[in-house]
Amino acid sequence: MSQRISVAVAGAAGRMGREVVKMVLEDPELELVAAIGRSSAGVDAGSLVGKPETGVVVTDRLEDALQSAKPDVLVDFTNPKSAVPNTEACIRHGVRPVVGTTGFTPEQIEQLDKQCREKGIGGLIAPNFSIGAILMMKFAAMAAKYLPHVEIIEYHGDQKLDAPSGTSIKTAEWISQTRRELRQGNPNEEEVLEGARGGYYNGFRIHSVRLPGIFAQQEVIFGGHGQTLKIRHDSYERAGYMPGVNTAIKKVMSVTGLVYGFEHFLDD
Ligand code: NAP
Repeated sequence: MSQRISVAVAGAAGRMGREVVKMVLEDPELELVAAIGRSSAGVDAGSLVGKPETGVVVTDRLEDALQSAKPDVLVDFTNPKSAVPNTEACIRHGVRPVVGTTGFTPEQIEQLDKQCREKGIGGLIAPNFSIGAILMMKFAAMAAKYLPHVEIIEYHGDQKLDAPSGTSIKTAEWISQTRRELRQGNPNEEEVLEGARGGYYNGFRIHSVRLPGIFAQQEVIFGGHGQTLKIRHDSYERAGYMPGVNTAIKKVMSVTGLVYGFEHFLDD
């Protein structure tokens, strides 16, 4: 067998982090060498996910873990506040970041790309690792060329920190590439209740629903003469993202610079 890819996981005890730890432990081509988390520090990574002990103990010291374990890749599923310094530290140590945490700004992505290139390593920030979600975005971009009147509604659990979701912003970016410039709606429209029309993006609106019981869904609605077209994607569980994260860990080994969006890893 060729050499295994060594992986560290930041946010290892989180809902996504646990799925990543499990996926890495189950893939013979990958080796878990570090797990980073704060409240779970001291716990064996295997027992976090109901597996036998691995000898990899969760630590809250990211830099020390990168220094001693020297992973090939750091997978980050933390929160928007932690993910930027985590990714910077990772690049400083020459470790390739695979980031699923959402909430990065275009300026931060540009900076991190520069840092990756200076180090001669690759990295990935992907607001969505699900193939169905990427297809939803592609189909929405196709439709926007012909039906430029559009609104996005995204639904997530009530504990999500960022709004709108990273996926909805990415969808809006793709739509903007194919949709002719258009300020939708009535120019005299008045918002009687602030925020009622959602967030404004390039002439159209994004609405964020946050409720307990919801996992992750998005609807892109196009309006035309006497018709609407709805493109909808529903995610039901976190394990659905893992084939994407697994592919990303393997493909990030052969790129240089920071790639934004998992779709760039799909076709080659
Ligand atoms: P979660 O359950 O709250 O997990 C986040 C974990 O990160 C917590 O266990 C937290 O634990 C840990 N953490 C926070 N700061 C840290 C730091 N500096 N170092 C190490 N660990 C740290 O959240 P989640 O549902 O797993 O989601 C995590 C992120 O993934 C969110 O941004 C979410 O939007 C995103 N997400 C992305 C995708 C995708 O496909 N890209 C899919 C689903 C979710 P401690 O506070 O104890 O450290």
